Amino acid sequence: MTTERRRDAPAADAGAPGRGPPPGVANRRARRRRAPPAPTSLHEQAAADLVEAAGEDVAFVLGPDVLWWAAGPGRGAWSPESAASRLVQGLYDLHGTRAARLLRRPVWSTRDADPFGLGLVKVHGKRLYRVTPRDHGLAPPPAREVRWTFAPAPAPEVTAAPPPGDVAGWAEASRRLAAGARVSDDGPRWARDRRVAALLLGPEGALLGAALNTHGHNRTLHAEVNLALGHVAATGAPLPPGATVVVSLRPCKACAGLLWAAAADPARLRVVYADDDPGPAARNTVLCLGSDPRRRFARTAAELQAPCLVPARAPDGAG
Ligand SMILES: [Zn+2]
Repeated sequence: MTTERRRDAPAADAGAPGRGPPPGVANRRARRRRAPPAPTSLHEQAAADLVEAAGEDVAFVLGPDVLWWAAGPGRGAWSPESAASRLVQGLYDLHGTRAARLLRRPVWSTRDADPFGLGLVKVHGKRLYRVTPRDHGLAPPPAREVRWTFAPAPAPEVTAAPPPGDVAGWAEASRRLAAGARVSDDGPRWARDRRVAALLLGPEGALLGAALNTHGHNRTLHAEVNLALGHVAATGAPLPPGATVVVSLRPCKACAGLLWAAAADPARLRVVYADDDPGPAARNTVLCLGSDPRRRFARTAAELQAPCLVPARAPDGAG
């Protein structure tokens, strides 16, 4: 039985100065959190059965009575998605916000974690682990397939047209687009869309796409997800080399993972954000220089050292 030890430590988000337990206790807790649970023979059996049925990589979560699973996009065609990302997005389509309860359980995948799938599990669930398919002659609980296909939302109209290269102008445009988004005031706050907008600029600065947050419909549909999956759905191609994504709010781990995975050349990807998000979901993402996910997913020295994430305005006092 092999379990891959995860290098991306959730504890990397911890460490706010002056708070929390003393370092020794925090380190012990972090080690406990980091230790992956061993997959049981039932997990290995489920993985073996599902891989055989699907003919490709799968991800699954063992619910109280049912095993929910999703197949990956297949190894042949390029895609920024994975079985894990499809499982999380599809569970929110099926169960709405009740998916969050299911995703407190470990998510198992038959392939190494990918930037988008891992980001989604970190933001909307708990932990993503690898399991090796193995036949033990067991009978896992009944399995239900989660099928997820991205359905693009109508793109918002962008009237602003700053000159190419005017990043601050585009950041302001994203902020205005977000502010003008039609968001229902009905129902609880968590069930409504958020006023966040994302723009895609080509390497020459031309506007290639725009999208809004629609997470009232599906919690995973942040503006950047609609933008990047919308571009891939429309073109079948990655975000072009040298592309700039301008977002009204600093991207979370899931969006950062998707932008990284969807970029033809992550080393030349630039993500500019208008407003900072102080929450933990937007810290230590793959777009952050020196972060754990960056060390994990960078394939070249250029990818390891690329700045990627830049605020539209330098912080006060930084010039
Ligand atoms: Zn996000």
